[in-house]
Amino acid sequence: MKNEHGSLSINSENIFPIIKKWLYSDHDIFFRELISNGSDAITKLKKLELMGEANLPEDNKYRIDVIVNPEEKTLKFIDNGIGMTADEVKEYINQIAFSGATDFLNKYKDKTNEEQIIGHFGLGFYSAFMVADRVTIDTLSWQEGAESVHWESEAGTEFTMEPGDKTVRGTEITLYLNEDSYEFSNEYRAKEVIEKYCSFMPVEIYFKNANAKEEPEAELEEDELETQEAEDSNEDIIDASVDEDGNVTEGAVEAKTEEKKPKAPKPINNTTPLWTKHPNDVTEEEYKEFYRNVFHDYKEPLFWIHLNMDYPFNLKGILYFPKLNTEYDTLEGTIKLYSNQVFIADNIKEVIPEFLMLLKGAIDCPDLPLNVSRSALQNDGFVKKISEYISKKVADKLSGMYKVERENYEKFWDDISPFIKFGCLKDDKFREKMKDFIIFKNLDGKYLTLPEYVKAAKADSADTASETAEEPKKEDNTASEDASDKKEEQKDVVYYVTNEQQQSQYINMFKQEGIDALILTHNIDQPFITQLEQTEQGYKFQRIDADITDSFKEEGHSEEALKAENDKLTELFRKTLNKEKLEVKVLKLKNDKVSSMITLSEESRRMQDMMKMYNMYGMD
Ligand code: ADP
Ligand code: MG
Repeated sequence: MKNEHGSLSINSENIFPIIKKWLYSDHDIFFRELISNGSDAITKLKKLELMGEANLPEDNKYRIDVIVNPEEKTLKFIDNGIGMTADEVKEYINQIAFSGATDFLNKYKDKTNEEQIIGHFGLGFYSAFMVADRVTIDTLSWQEGAESVHWESEAGTEFTMEPGDKTVRGTEITLYLNEDSYEFSNEYRAKEVIEKYCSFMPVEIYFKNANAKEEPEAELEEDELETQEAEDSNEDIIDASVDEDGNVTEGAVEAKTEEKKPKAPKPINNTTPLWTKHPNDVTEEEYKEFYRNVFHDYKEPLFWIHLNMDYPFNLKGILYFPKLNTEYDTLEGTIKLYSNQVFIADNIKEVIPEFLMLLKGAIDCPDLPLNVSRSALQNDGFVKKISEYISKKVADKLSGMYKVERENYEKFWDDISPFIKFGCLKDDKFREKMKDFIIFKNLDGKYLTLPEYVKAAKADSADTASETAEEPKKEDNTASEDASDKKEEQKDVVYYVTNEQQQSQYINMFKQEGIDALILTHNIDQPFITQLEQTEQGYKFQRIDADITDSFKEEGHSEEALKAENDKLTELFRKTLNKEKLEVKVLKLKNDKVSSMITLSEESRRMQDMMKMYNMYGMD
């Protein structure tokens, strides 16, 4: 080849400030981009091999090497994939890679919203220039008789190309980091980033610090590798040999140390993550271990769903239902999104329904249009289908559990109900599928659906009404009647408790009267029951301390006596609380254990609660 020198066809002056601004928090994605390019190059060669077009040596092992050099502030990415000829470098690097970057900028430069998906989806090869002033490529194509190429570019504006000296197939990219990015040549920092993006990449990745003391990197045979691993796990025991009398036999220890084989280098990643396996081939312990490793959550997950779909789109993944964080009563989930085992980002709301982000999981969807030049994800019908599919699968799992193993469902309910309720609030289809499987804990700690609660309440009141009644009165109004036609009075009243301690007085009163109530102590419950009243219409929720005095009023007291007491107390309360317009109502209650109670109408109290809730969560 002839030496070449040229200008890259982009205008870098306005590109860099924009890239730096937008990708500021995600500078580290160049690791992902360069490693996944290596992985792509290997995948391509694997395909050619399968098709019989490429003949590779028997002992060929595909691998990617990442080498940091903290002293020289360089990073190397080496793969033994397909490599590039000089023509391919011209086409794919000089033209495509850079035009990709230009497309990216044209598309996003007018967007001011920083929370755009930018930064989650890469700039490809060009991202190297976010952290490096100088980038070189040394590459040798897999094709017979190929000549190696050395390419380099300063700051991504001009390039030179000349014959290189690479003698093994593949591509080696070297980044000479700029001063702001020296951190990436730090061994621990680099490893952290690679683990974030590449933990599950399908090609083995080996990581090395070029400045670290050279460990003999002897390639071990397969069987040696196994013994080596066995030895590793027994290390502590073997090293301290003890003789029959209980003395440490130093000779033995020394002998052992001498015998020790050099450590076989281990890849930094797991090339077959659990989601790529068939659910039948995965044990419960493996699911739990994966959960611990990926989410660093040492509380066991409650249960999980393994998604495995080939048609009409390709999607695999595992969704875990975590235990509620009891301290804050919150679920803090993470859904990691992958494309062909390459990490894209956590919690991308365009792809994953918001309420599902309360779960923990990994979803791999290679069909996702993550390429920046494609239409924005938000308006993508395909992306929407994916999101709907996931949400449907979750509803199926939960409803199936209710139907087949209600006991378990009840056991998990306290942990999963905030999630389900949030789902109902956010996603109509999810609510439609789940609405008959919402249960509530009552004063006795039993779990009831609303119809079950109402039925029991009616049976109870029938009991007390006719003292001797043995069978509950026949219900003829609830089921058959169209709920939306129900008049206010006909609605079934559902009493509920929001704080068992504060409302204990009322709870006692209710218990004495044999009236049941439901425990709804989570923040999400207020908006949830409001929605329930709107969508189901047959129910009216009343907090246990709402203005329910009618149910407890004792008849037969003289109006005058009550009025006198009323006026007296009104005056006292108005003065003390300094509220001129305060209304006080005096009446005698049936229940002699209660001396006084404060009530607040359901409507005004719920308004207050909702406001609080919205302020806290910024919900809409
Ligand atoms: P993309 O990967 O989306 O195609 P990139 O900018 O990352 O975009 O890369 C541009 C092109 O350069 C790739 O499509 C590929 O043809 C070529 N390329 C980049 N890195 C390598 C590599 N390590 N080995 C072989 N070809 C590569
Ligand atoms: Mg790429």
